[in-house]
Amino acid sequence: MSAVTREAPAPVRIPHWIGARAVHEGQRLGDVVDPASGRLTGLVPLADAALVGRAVAAARAAYPAWRDTPALQRARVMFRFRALLEQHRAELAAIITAEHGKTLADADGSLQRGIEVVEFACGIAHLLKGEAGRDVGAGIDCTALREPLGVCAGISPFNFPAMVPLWMFPLAIACGNSFIMKPSEKVPSCALRLAQLLTEAGLPDGVLNVVHGDREAVDALLDDPAVAAVSFVGSTPVARHVYERGAAQGKRVQALGGAKNHLVVMPDADMAQAAAALMGAAYGSAGERCMAIAVAVAVGEAGDRLREALVGRIARLRVGAGTDPATDMGPLISAGHRERVLGYVEAGVAEGAELVVDGRVVPPAGQGQGFFVGPTLFDRVRPSMRIWREEIFGPVLCIVRVASAEEALALVNGHEYANGAAIFTASGRAAREFAARVDAGMVGVNVPIPVPMAFFSFGGNKHSLFGDSAMHGTEGVRFYTRLKTVTSRWPGGGEATGGFSMPTPGR
Ligand code: NAD
Repeated sequence: MSAVTREAPAPVRIPHWIGARAVHEGQRLGDVVDPASGRLTGLVPLADAALVGRAVAAARAAYPAWRDTPALQRARVMFRFRALLEQHRAELAAIITAEHGKTLADADGSLQRGIEVVEFACGIAHLLKGEAGRDVGAGIDCTALREPLGVCAGISPFNFPAMVPLWMFPLAIACGNSFIMKPSEKVPSCALRLAQLLTEAGLPDGVLNVVHGDREAVDALLDDPAVAAVSFVGSTPVARHVYERGAAQGKRVQALGGAKNHLVVMPDADMAQAAAALMGAAYGSAGERCMAIAVAVAVGEAGDRLREALVGRIARLRVGAGTDPATDMGPLISAGHRERVLGYVEAGVAEGAELVVDGRVVPPAGQGQGFFVGPTLFDRVRPSMRIWREEIFGPVLCIVRVASAEEALALVNGHEYANGAAIFTASGRAAREFAARVDAGMVGVNVPIPVPMAFFSFGGNKHSLFGDSAMHGTEGVRFYTRLKTVTSRWPGGGEATGGFSMPTPGR
């Protein structure tokens, strides 16, 4: 019997989506890799300024008719989009796992959080209602309405291939804008599929375009005068760049950056509950979440009990391919990122932190050249160490021991990032004090990853957000619209003033 050999399938060519058509052009190509095997699965074209210009032109052409489409009709497209997302759940989760590496269950959960933004956008007719006042002066009425901005752009990171793009374009489009999505070139297929489904839902051609690329494409979007607003989510250095370059050209910019989220464990906390919560929060998605908990701040005698509870759980955590239903934690996104995370583990050891669980020794059997790092736990981490100061974005949890709740708060508030923070305690007073005084955009009380629901807004403080507007919820509606206030008087409704002094119709 001859041995059967199976050749790996050739990498797929992933197109841009411009004017509701697949566009394969691009001089440069990026690699798309399955992080669980290290196999090259796709090639993605990296747009240059000319190609970005074509997408902007398509979005500009589609804008006037879409702006003038009644909000209720725009909402109906979102209703159909939502139904298609539900119908294609399994397919979308598989795309996310294939390019990102997270487990299928986690991929599905993140998709759900994105679908909820679409559900929020279905209520756009209500959300866009403005204010009105009659007789603000004699015979004068006033209405204030929110209008769309024009062409908006979104730039997303690799770690949420569906959820973060869904934070952006459904709401922008429901508000009456047209949109150009530039997803991470490491996970390009999900945003493309979302755009195809939205087209299938009845969105007119050109209202949503997907352009793949790297810095060149991002800078082209920032420099194009026809782009009115930019939503960005990614690392802090790039968020700062996007904010500065976009704002310098008069654009509206919201740029969400990196994070280093802390979870304070008080001695009165339910330690089993805190440890269980920390496991998912620190190691879920291999720590590649902007709301991952990277630091457990153990107050007083919580430290020893917490550490013991964590060590037992870490020993049972299963690392492997995201497609395996038995897996708790998948690989990191790339070989380069794996090296970076391993470098932090070495730095922690060199700086004198106690390496309690060493994730460098993780060999998930049969995973080929996958980018795995096992769950890693450091204890007795100090604020002077790089593993506390810098965002690692991997499965590395640091325990910092402090003497009091005040010291814990000062530690959290002393960090340059301020995305999320949480406290585990049985004391309402301690929780209330923490929630009031902590400098973070999103706070959890006995909730480890306090990601706000779609009808609230998502965003951090300090270097976790540049700009003044969070994502989705009412903040999202405000970001993607601007106010127009109309003051009117009709003939016979009073004398028009023609004087040279400041009009005072209310006097
Ligand atoms: P990244 O900053 O490397 O990339 C984000 C996007 O910017 C991508 O689309 C990428 O193509 C583009 N980009 C990369 N370098 C660029 C440059 N020099 N100029 C212009 N554009 C550039 O981030 P990432 O590695 O994809 O994602 C991980 C980071 O995102 C982490 O820091 C994480 O904390 C952060 N993040 C933050 C949030 C949040 O809500 N605050 C959410 C998710 C991820």
